Amino acid sequence: MKFRTFSLLKRFSTIPKISPKICVVGSGPAGFYAAQYMANRLETAQIDIIERLPVPFGLVRFGVAPDHANLKNCINTFSKTAQLKNVRFMGNITLGRDVTLKQLKEAYHVVLLTYGVDDSRKLNIKGSDLRNIFQAKDFVGWYNGVPWNRDLTVDLSDTTATIFGHGNVAIDVARLLLSPIDKLKSTDITEHSLATFAQSRIKEVNLIGRRGPLQVSFTTKELRELLNLQNCCTVWRPEDMQDVPELVPKLVKPRKRLTELMVDQFQKRQTPKLDEKQLKMIFLRSAKEFGGSLKVESVKLQINRLEGDDLLEKKAVPTEREETIASSLVVASIGYKSVQADNDIPFNSQLGVVENKYGKVDNGLYTAGWVAKGASGVLLHTMEHAFGVASVILKDLELEGVKQTKPGFDFVRKLLDERNVQVVTWEDWLKIDEYEKNEGKKLNKPREKIVDIEQMLKIAAT
Ligand code: NAP
Repeated sequence: MKFRTFSLLKRFSTIPKISPKICVVGSGPAGFYAAQYMANRLETAQIDIIERLPVPFGLVRFGVAPDHANLKNCINTFSKTAQLKNVRFMGNITLGRDVTLKQLKEAYHVVLLTYGVDDSRKLNIKGSDLRNIFQAKDFVGWYNGVPWNRDLTVDLSDTTATIFGHGNVAIDVARLLLSPIDKLKSTDITEHSLATFAQSRIKEVNLIGRRGPLQVSFTTKELRELLNLQNCCTVWRPEDMQDVPELVPKLVKPRKRLTELMVDQFQKRQTPKLDEKQLKMIFLRSAKEFGGSLKVESVKLQINRLEGDDLLEKKAVPTEREETIASSLVVASIGYKSVQADNDIPFNSQLGVVENKYGKVDNGLYTAGWVAKGASGVLLHTMEHAFGVASVILKDLELEGVKQTKPGFDFVRKLLDERNVQVVTWEDWLKIDEYEKNEGKKLNKPREKIVDIEQMLKIAAT
């Protein structure tokens, strides 16, 4: 989806007489970037960011890998936005449970849905209910402190793990499984998962994609970091890389650089030493069936071939051939999806996105970020998308004007009071933040995330 323009207006030219009340649902990157854009250009607007959890930042807190601390620097910008005089953060409010979309539309002139992704694409094959098979979203949530993933029973006591998907989330999971424990200790990884990683006996990680080296979704920097892991040897299979070197000259950047890296590493490959961990890069394989009695023990793979004229868009077509590999842990990392948070949201269940055109859903209703366009792109893309939708909102407000006053959060607060919902303000979050940082200090970590919602609420109420 492309916006006709990202800078429809730099500053609001006609100040509306009635101050617009805007509700942003979700405090991840899309929500904060959109709020920042609107707050700076329309100072008369009141922008309320509501969030289901008592803590802000969505996927920046719960998705970015713990050893990628620099990717979390945007939190500084988001914190400045939250403290602007026309912006408020209000956590612990769930759309569809504590307040409906209809009620939000009654309270606000504009509702912007930026609540991200809460579901995964699934493999749905025989044996999927065996123990130690996870969706990447849950596995990542477990080590990143998502409250409802805290009790995931992850067993790393055997030697072989398999990850399906060739995207950057799969790379994150592979890196965490293969990293020396000392590299993780000083990150904000949750202590309960760190204890499991510290006992890990995983020696071999199969990173399996259904298509070939030219169709992977991961990016050069992320792959290079994985390939450079200390005490880990990457194993490439010659049949996967057969025609790839000759195709490199036909490619353009960034695909060219990524493929050059793979070819270079393939050509320099060495036999793993006995004490080394192994990353096995496997292409043209799809999961067909998981085997095991209670816990997963093996994976039957369908061998694919590629079909189609466009080199980068070739499709995986199953052949008659299969193979079975041993694996005691499986992580399916084949993409995230969003959910319909409220029955009144026009939602495309197949794509897992809110129906929209350039971010507009309906009069006064908009959407931005992954819930609007699907789960792809790095933070910069989310920022551009959020800015784009925010500029559409401001333009619509300017063209249509604000005709009647609306009660804004006063209306919502009454509903929440009736339901006894404790609202977590920005000041309350700062108390949780300080607590987590202090707990982290004791362990030489930047923070120890609280993974219990009740505990978050207790600290917020002090
Ligand atoms: P992704 O980049 O879309 O990768 C999904 C992978 O799953 C692809 O290899 C895809 O293969 C495969 N797949 C999809 N459906 C499948 C199926 N039914 N069976 C087998 N394989 C299937 O998604 P992601 O890894 O979840 O990442 C989401 C976004 O976050 C990406 O834009 C990523 O770059 C970003 N991210 C960035 C970072 C970072 O910057 N460090 C870290 C994490 C995530 P096909 O291509 O064949 O469909």
